[in-house]
Amino acid sequence: MTYPIDPGGLAAVLAHPDDESFACAGALAGAHAGGRTTRLLVATRGEAGTPDGSPDPSIGGIREAELIGAARAIGLDEVSILDGYADGGLADASFSRLVDEIAAWLADRRPQAVITFGPHGVTGHPDHIIVGNATRWAVEKLADAGIAPNALYVIVPTFNPGAPVYDLSPEEQAATHLIDITAVADRKLAGLEAHASQSDTTEPIAALKAAIASGEAIHEGYHRVRPLVPAPHPKFDTDLL
Ligand SMILES: [Zn+2]
Repeated sequence: MTYPIDPGGLAAVLAHPDDESFACAGALAGAHAGGRTTRLLVATRGEAGTPDGSPDPSIGGIREAELIGAARAIGLDEVSILDGYADGGLADASFSRLVDEIAAWLADRRPQAVITFGPHGVTGHPDHIIVGNATRWAVEKLADAGIAPNALYVIVPTFNPGAPVYDLSPEEQAATHLIDITAVADRKLAGLEAHASQSDTTEPIAALKAAIASGEAIHEGYHRVRPLVPAPHPKFDTDLL
């Protein structure tokens, strides 16, 4: 299968619309600004993003549209959503099917580097944990086929402005790569603002605005888990590629 855009670049594999803006929009925006191909695969349409968390298919459509808006703001060349996975329901889905579908998506596009969730999924959301695990298995499958990406990273939210404190795994507490996103922080802000149906963006938006106004450097943190880099000494960089 061929695509209208180049293979390679940086790809993120996440669970819901808005995960990209909370977690890794800065790294994606920076890669795009640097002329790299950027892509996002999400497993669900986020239809449980309702005030009481009960699924609503019409919300899934709204959130898909918000995701497209966020993708434009961040600078994503391609956004894909898997079919047939319920928001909040990845634990009930076939794990091997999820692994195979992520592996096929990556094999078609051959990103140089991949970002996903670490073992605690940043927030402990089961969908985050499962999609992170499935992506790591998918990359191992690609390695068996001789087409692994050069690097796989998990998200370390500790350095994000306003990041809430969660019970994180060592991988998710200790960054090996701190990416300076100062130059593209406005793109990350616009990505968060695009998810207007989600009230939990309010605090991160305020924190990011304050960080931008402060004039100080803004970072996102990542732990490279393949090839594994021992924490905790982060490498300061502007790019994960
Ligand atoms: Zn999520």
